[in-house]
Amino acid sequence: MSQETRKFEAEVAQVLHLVTHSLYSHKEIFLRELISNASDACDKLRFEALADASLTADDADLRIQITWDPDARTISVRDNGIGMTRDEVVANIGTIASSGTRRYLEALSGEQKADARLIGQFGVGFYSAFVVADKVTVVTRRAGQPTSAGVRWESDGKGEYTLDETDIAERGTTVVLHLKADEDEFLKAWQLRSLVKKYSDHVAFPIRMPKDTDGKPDPTEWETVNSASALWSRPKSEITDDEYKAFYKALGHDFNDPLAWTHNRVEGSQSFTTLLFVPEQPPFDLMMGGREERKGLKLYIKRVFIMDAAEELLPNYLRFVRGVVDADDLPLNVSREILQQNRQLEKIKAACTKRVLDLLEKISRDEPEKFAGFLSAFGNTLKEGIVEDASNRERIAKLLRFASTKGEGAAKTVSFDDYIGRMVVGQDAIWFVTADSYAAAAGSPQLEALKAKGIEVLLMFDRVDEWMLGYLNEYDGKRLRNVAKGEFPLDEADKAKQEAASKDAEPLIERAKGLLGDRVGDVRVSARLTDSPSCLALSDYEMAPHLARLLREAGQDVPDSKPVLEVNPEHALVKRLANETDDAKASDLANLLLEQAEITAGAQLADPAAFVQRMNRVLLG
Ligand code: ADP
Ligand code: MG
Repeated sequence: MSQETRKFEAEVAQVLHLVTHSLYSHKEIFLRELISNASDACDKLRFEALADASLTADDADLRIQITWDPDARTISVRDNGIGMTRDEVVANIGTIASSGTRRYLEALSGEQKADARLIGQFGVGFYSAFVVADKVTVVTRRAGQPTSAGVRWESDGKGEYTLDETDIAERGTTVVLHLKADEDEFLKAWQLRSLVKKYSDHVAFPIRMPKDTDGKPDPTEWETVNSASALWSRPKSEITDDEYKAFYKALGHDFNDPLAWTHNRVEGSQSFTTLLFVPEQPPFDLMMGGREERKGLKLYIKRVFIMDAAEELLPNYLRFVRGVVDADDLPLNVSREILQQNRQLEKIKAACTKRVLDLLEKISRDEPEKFAGFLSAFGNTLKEGIVEDASNRERIAKLLRFASTKGEGAAKTVSFDDYIGRMVVGQDAIWFVTADSYAAAAGSPQLEALKAKGIEVLLMFDRVDEWMLGYLNEYDGKRLRNVAKGEFPLDEADKAKQEAASKDAEPLIERAKGLLGDRVGDVRVSARLTDSPSCLALSDYEMAPHLARLLREAGQDVPDSKPVLEVNPEHALVKRLANETDDAKASDLANLLLEQAEITAGAQLADPAAFVQRMNRVLLG
């Protein structure tokens, strides 16, 4: 098979179109992406050579070389890493494997122009070459293949590429960029050098450039431009904050500084180093949850890159963490299957989890504002840990913050510890209410009696809260209680009052039951209300009405349950019902008491038109 011309897969063509038409800022990112690929290729070869030393026998000095040609107006990035076969070239740069690409396309075509610097997070970094080049040539030979197995790929990024056979003396890949007319700034050695320093200083392989003599490269003399060290293996005291930040940016293909990091070395029966970063903003793959292979945490063994092992090294709820784990004692020939059953790895995973939680605790204590930023980016992800990680449940709960009846507004949040510190004499539970918005939570009639007694109620209105609360029954020995659930009397005095009120209201309750028939499971006198005439009460295992509504809207089957209606006999409307002699009018009143309770609970009204007619009849007297 010699020369052939092929069309890009439709999605690649789309990416290329957007890349060449939308990415004007930070064009220089292409260099970081090509170096990142070259470094990955060296990592892969080093890993394969563990099993087959002959692969690197002729040339064990893995490296990346960057050069420029002012006359031809080209830049080339060369590595002596793993290289690609013809099929691999087609599979890796003619098609797109990652399903993150869809999201990339959406992000790029959306309102806000996605930043070019994010391109690597989507697994399409290679195409950033076309931001500065109108033609890209890739010449590559797979390690272990003969000289004649070379492949030449070339494209102008407009829909087609050509493939050719070629002889290549050395294994590895060279990417040649034929620069667009106005991109001459990249033909200057100092410019390339400063970009390597800025974006790729901590790539673990040496990046070399020829000496610059009067603007031309001198191929007889190569200099190493980057630090080329495994940053994590150096002592903490010798690493500056800027070095950590630069390392993170290259690792995460991010352009923001990390929010925080934690770097630790464990010595002992099992020795390992962890360097873990918490980003400032959610990485783009975050919301894709567990559906895709998670990246971002790299496993090294004695400085040899083994694999992306985010899933093996961190629980799902910490999937925003980026970093490196370097273990001394794992077998070098590990496969993913072996890894998953490895006891040592279990321990490393527990250690990573602990380190991240320690770090978050420290930020929450020392830098509350920074911590608030963390929670707004990752708080809902962290909440999944309450469900996922029973052994750290209390630690995670300690980090969470909620709006409260003692705060002002949704943004003024409190911790469980703040709450407990303010509990009133005789209070033994942590009270909360769930709803689908701050306003709905803060306005819940169910919390009136608690408010009147000066008892704080946490206002929970994130979608994950309800699910999370199913697993969080207590905190620091205090029961968590939903204000809308179960029996309510608070103490003996309340109980006596409640019983007396129920007795007095018996005829009213019987009447309401008769009027509402099978619309309700029960009607009773409420101890929860002071100002409102009615509210719904849930049994301990019943789903909140707003959640049931959301699930139904999402097409899920939710079992019907008949609401328990609680009424406040002190309220004028309820009194009016008690005294109403006209059955039709009494029926309207009883139904309206039920329906307004349903509305404040976020439930779906069964018959909105009937509700409106009833309301209008009552309004008109
Ligand atoms: P990513 O690096 O996230 O996989 P890229 O678009 O940067 O996405 O690269 C696509 C793929 O092309 C890589 O996964 C790799 O298989 C292949 N590739 C790119 N550059 C090289 C290289 N220098 N050596 C070997 N393979 C490469
Ligand atoms: Mg890449």
